[in-house]
Amino acid sequence: MPKCEACGATFATTEELMRHNETHVTKAESFKCQACGATFGSQQLLEGHIKEAHPMAISR
Ligand SMILES: [Zn+2]
Ligand SMILES: [Zn+2]
Repeated sequence: MPKCEACGATFATTEELMRHNETHVTKAESFKCQACGATFGSQQLLEGHIKEAHPMAISR
């Protein structure tokens, strides 16, 4: 079953998944790193970036 790598949602067809992926692209601006201004397609990717690039920015 096609699965979205960004949010974990599953779809009946690959075509539906590709259509869904476009929503992540258009929403990329809403997942913006406050430390360096980089934007990401999902909260998951943003959190991964912060852990990799700005480990000191995580308070806990
Ligand atoms: Zn998704
Ligand atoms: Zn950053």
